[in-house]
Amino acid sequence: MDFSFTAQEEEFRQELRAWLEENLPQGWLDGEFKLDKESKEYELFLRDWQRKLYEGGWAAIAWPEKYGGRNATLMEEIVYQQEMVRVMAPALINYVGIHMVAPTLMQIGTEEQKEKYIQKIITGEEVWCQGYSEPNAGSDVAAIQTTAVKDGDRWIINGQKIWTSFGHVADRCFLITRTSRLEKKHKGITVFLLDMHQPGVETRPIIQMDGQHDFNEVYLNDAVAYDADIIGEVDEGWKVIIALLMHERTGIGAQVFTLEQQFNDLVALAKELKDDDESIIKDPFIRKAMVDLYARSRGSLLNYYRNLTKQLKNGHPGAESSMDKLMVSELTKELLAQSVSMQGHRGVLWKEDAVAGRSYWQDNYLYSFGQTIGGGTSEIQKNTIAERILGLPKDMGR
Ligand SMILES: Cc1cc2nc3c(=O)[nH]c(=O)nc-3n(C[C@H](O)[C@H](O)[C@H](O)COP(=O)(O)OP(=O)(O)OC[C@H]3O[C@@H](n4cnc5c(N)ncnc54)[C@H](O)[C@@H]3O)c2cc1C
Repeated sequence: MDFSFTAQEEEFRQELRAWLEENLPQGWLDGEFKLDKESKEYELFLRDWQRKLYEGGWAAIAWPEKYGGRNATLMEEIVYQQEMVRVMAPALINYVGIHMVAPTLMQIGTEEQKEKYIQKIITGEEVWCQGYSEPNAGSDVAAIQTTAVKDGDRWIINGQKIWTSFGHVADRCFLITRTSRLEKKHKGITVFLLDMHQPGVETRPIIQMDGQHDFNEVYLNDAVAYDADIIGEVDEGWKVIIALLMHERTGIGAQVFTLEQQFNDLVALAKELKDDDESIIKDPFIRKAMVDLYARSRGSLLNYYRNLTKQLKNGHPGAESSMDKLMVSELTKELLAQSVSMQGHRGVLWKEDAVAGRSYWQDNYLYSFGQTIGGGTSEIQKNTIAERILGLPKDMGR
């Protein structure tokens, strides 16, 4: 393992830094930029930001050049993540499209589908969501009940999806449906590239405990899709589902850089907070907790690098991404709990009442619970690690 960056990679970092300095919205870096996250204005701002990233060549650096990417190496992707986290760059509204749907289309889609969708994904013209989970199908996604029934060259879709991130802003959905009831539940599934703008699709918001609206319920009442909207083969969608999930898990591992940044910010917070006029970082209990968090977050970063090295050698991601997902999401939750607890009674204050009028730590703490669930729960990651890395017997529950 070699942890240093080459001169070329450092040059890449400087190029991105310069671009960000020039293109981040005014007031972004000093915290003056404010928009109500629930407003239409905010959605338009995020779409506009993605367009800017695209025009600067920074929207999908890992993609091949022919699709508007830079063919970036994995090391360049690391540099990219570090720099985006450093400036807390605006969210990528088409995260699902760029990191999950388009790579799957490049792998499995027809030429027609690639032509029709990929360009619009990178420009942000079409935002995507992922329609996997249902009220009774989450970890066990093959238990889906949403049906698609053939009617000429059309398919009529009925059912309900839940926890659909970006569903309220999405133009298209990577939707999994049941098209046959066969003996094995992993068979008989078909994946559609569904148009969200039609009367048969109704999106209802789910408001999280942090007051934000990131995900939704999606009701499908005689929604219509066509043969040309099928990705992969009819009844053979399981392979497509897995292909997309592999891309999803790889992206989640990169949250390790957010964790690294949040640890540094936590140290700054511990220096700033005072108890009896003394900075709390001098308190031995706080110091012990910080050292423990440091050791484990550093361990998870090194583990991420180790898995990455393996990926560089193998050329594809493996089950190790489950280790990254598990460690990073659980540690993030612990780190943020520590940040709130360190604030003492002020830790329960929120929004403008919080310390310095900003509830960054409280907001992220509340959000962190979802991170241990979305993209596969911690228990499911443990099963994957047990079965595919440690070679233990299969979970009998599945
Ligand atoms: C922030 C966030 C964003 C999300 N975005 C999307 C999205 O865009 N699209 C989408 O389709 N879904 C999305 N989801 C849904 C997510 O994929 C599911 O919540 C997740 O897969 C778990 O499914 P479930 O909620 O049905 O819980 P269940 O699967 O019912 O699990 C309930 C509990 O049982 C445990 N459990 C289940 N099976 C096993 C087992 N075999 N062994 C041990 N323990 C087990 C789980 O770990 C969990 O603790 C999102 C979720 C979150 C939190």
